[in-house]
This record gives sequence, structure tokens and C-alpha cells, in this order.
Amino acid sequence: MSEARANLKNANRIVIKVGTSTLAYPQTRKLNLFRIEHLIREIADLHNGGKEIIFVSSGAIAAGIGRMGLSEKPDNVPDNQALAAIGQGVLMHIYEKFFAEYGKTMAQLLLTGNDTIDAHARENSRNSLLAILKMGVIPVINENDAVATDEIKIGDNDNLSAMVATMIDADILIILTDIDGVYNGNPKTDKNATLIDEISSITPAIEKIAGGAGTKLGTGGMYTKIQAAKIATKAGISTLIIPGSEVGALRKCINGERIGTIFPAKIGGVSDE
Ligand code: GLU
Repeated sequence: MSEARANLKNANRIVIKVGTSTLAYPQTRKLNLFRIEHLIREIADLHNGGKEIIFVSSGAIAAGIGRMGLSEKPDNVPDNQALAAIGQGVLMHIYEKFFAEYGKTMAQLLLTGNDTIDAHARENSRNSLLAILKMGVIPVINENDAVATDEIKIGDNDNLSAMVATMIDADILIILTDIDGVYNGNPKTDKNATLIDEISSITPAIEKIAGGAGTKLGTGGMYTKIQAAKIATKAGISTLIIPGSEVGALRKCINGERIGTIFPAKIGGVSDE
């Protein structure tokens, strides 16, 4: 077991981010209740074990699409904002139900880019999050898509989760996604592509694998996950990208077992650039 993975056991404050691809069926965009239930149960169990969990969840727009019976994502901003507002409630209803089944209380926090950048707003968000954690409650965070304007929009929850992790001095950031981790090629087209266990430096070559610097593949892509790993590791927070479809993945990861890809923290926040 690598030293970086062995250290994961000692993590106490853990940010867990889950993407839409893990939460909803791609064909119908309806929620994947099997996955959500297992995920919440695992989070509740980690919480029982004494960990502080901060849960960053996407899926509001997808849940809105599912609830309204639409076949595809609208191409205009106001409709997507409306669907985020509809879907956020749908999502929280499900989370609240599953968390309550395991005796857990959750709290919803909707942040905008400004809350992670502006010093005063950031301090307010941090204080609120720390108070929630102190109460033994699990914060569930999303971007406030219904009101976020272009200027203040982060746009993807990978970056949001990294900003939240740095805001509250998390020990580790775990990103659950629909792929096993970071590969050294495209596993969909290259059968020789293999999973990279550990990435200690985010080099231009790694960024190229993830879609190339400056290329935004959109939410859910590997590029934004690498950006998130960069932000978090620089702040001394080890980051992991692990498969969201595997039952027990979180526990395995925190036990230091080999799963997904780990980006060990830069000790003392040393930049790799
Ligand atoms: N905040 C968006 C949502 O809840 C998702 C952003 C993302 O996929 O990263 O639908």
C-alpha cells in the first residue's frame, strides 16, 4: 500500500463529490435509487465511524428533467435554472429520506462562485459549514444554479468541491464518477489504456489525457476533475477519483485499498508548476 493511501485512514474531515452520471440513468435521466441508497448508507456509516462528511452533489438539473418528463436538456438558461430549482427539491427529498432512515440529519447549502472567492462571503460560508459539522449534521452542497449568473458561476461541481474542501480545511476530497479513475489513454477507444494508481504531479501530459488545458469538456468530464485535484492538492488535500458505480467504493478508498486514482497532497502546498 502506498504511503499516500495508507494515510487516508487518518482522514477525519472528508469532502465527497458525486456527479450526475452516477446519480441518474443516462437514458431516462431518472434518479438511480439503488446507487443513491447505497451511497447514502455508506456515508452514514462513515459518519457513524466518527468521520465528518461534507457531501457535494450534482444532479439537480437531471432530477428536474426527470420530474418534468423531458426527453432532453433545454438549450436556454432560464429553463435550466427552472429545472435546477425543481430538481434540487426532488434530490433533497430523496437524500433526506435515506439519511433519516439511518438516523442522520442533513443540511442543504447552495453556494455561488462568489461564496468561494469573495473573502467575506467565503468566511460566512465557512462559518456556516463549520457550525453544521459541529452539530453532527451532514451538509449537502450544490451550486445555486437557479440564480447563479455567468459572472459568478463556477459551472461544475468538481471545482466547487475542491473550493469547499479548501474553505473548510478538509483532509481529503473524494470524487465519485462513472469511470474507474484516470487512465493513461482513452479506455473507450484504446484497449491498452491502463488505470493510473497514483499521480503525484499534474503534468501537461496528464492534462492532455484529461482533454487538454483550456478545453472544457463540460460538466462531468475528466478535465474539471484534474482541475479540482490541482486546487485541492496544492492546499495540502489529497484527492481521489473513484468509481461511483462500485458498491463499497468509499469504504475501500478510505481503508487505503487500491481503487481509482490518488493525487497525494502537496506537503506545505508546494506548487508543481
Ligand atoms: N450543479 C449542477 C446540477 O446540480 C451540476 C454541475 C455538475 O455537473 O458539475 O445539476
